[in-house]
Amino acid sequence: MTAPTGGGYRANCPACGSAMRIRGSKDQTPTFKTMYGQCSNVACSGSFTGSLTWDYALSPSGVDSPRVVLPVAPAMQRMQALQDSRKQSNQLDLLDAQEATA
Ligand SMILES: [Zn+2]
Repeated sequence: MTAPTGGGYRANCPACGSAMRIRGSKDQTPTFKTMYGQCSNVACSGSFTGSLTWDYALSPSGVDSPRVVLPVAPAMQRMQALQDSRKQSNQLDLLDAQEATA
């Protein structure tokens, strides 16, 4: 599963690599969700189940009484999240734009 593009999840079929449609999901706990997906490639048409988990907080929730409080991600995972979020965007962020014009 990869980061959202214009909303929602994107996932690729584990068998053929084509885009998967998430056909349904069920919250098991606030941090664990069961997902059901079907491959969009008619030659494959595989269907799969998997899971989505929330493991760490990158920044804390702003609500008064969150349902769960996850541990803050280790520094290496925060750095990876920053790099992953940059790879997904086609837009230059402010710092990149300044570097590009310098
Ligand atoms: Zn497939």
